[in-house]
Amino acid sequence: MKEIAGNIKSITGRLPSGVSLIAVSKTRSTDEILEAYQCGQRLFGENRVQELISKKDLLPGDIQWHIIGHLQTNKVKQIAPFVSMIESVDSLKLLELINSEGQKVNRVIDVLLQVYIATEETKFGFDVFEITSIDWSVITDKLHNVRICGLMGMASFSDDETLVHSQFRSLKSLFVSLRDRYFGNIDYFSQVSMGMSGDWQIAVEEGSTMIRVGSAIFGQRKYL
Ligand SMILES: *Cc1c(COP(=O)(O)O)cnc(C)c1O
Repeated sequence: MKEIAGNIKSITGRLPSGVSLIAVSKTRSTDEILEAYQCGQRLFGENRVQELISKKDLLPGDIQWHIIGHLQTNKVKQIAPFVSMIESVDSLKLLELINSEGQKVNRVIDVLLQVYIATEETKFGFDVFEITSIDWSVITDKLHNVRICGLMGMASFSDDETLVHSQFRSLKSLFVSLRDRYFGNIDYFSQVSMGMSGDWQIAVEEGSTMIRVGSAIFGQRKYL
């Protein structure tokens, strides 16, 4: 179990300041999560609401939980009271729903807009055309119980580093152009969540501010 602490230290030791590590704890036991917690890790990412709810109450209350996977609209209500950030907002409908659930529990919920940058068919997110054709000033004026803090994306699972570099680079430049167009005076629009176990170094080189790492911390996931 000492490995978990060592893995976290070796990653955080190589992160430039201003880049945070989300420990992706999906499929991991509460003991494994506690192990990471005890060496100072506070940001954790989960992709399934049911799994998160069942583990959360067994763990320290100061853990900041990020939702990183596709979120069904009927699950938002369950996480609205406590979630720290929803990184996987992939439609306006979902954003509006998070806003209304935030309103009900009197919270302003931090979110990222997930953008589809990979070549695989299976990844969720706004496509670049869609996200650039929305007037985000209108949205931010209207929705007072969400804060759009930036973008999230996943690169293709590929050994082609040039491809991965270019996908991350395009996400970063999309972030910059949206910021300049719609979020110029909004200081919390500042995050680009990109990079996982296999590609976080590339993501950091391309300007990531948040990496989401699971297996490089906890070992290979075993799916049942
Ligand atoms: C599982 C997952 C990760 C972490 O994956 P690893 O390869 O284990 O680091 C990161 N982001 C998302 C959206 C995920 O679903």
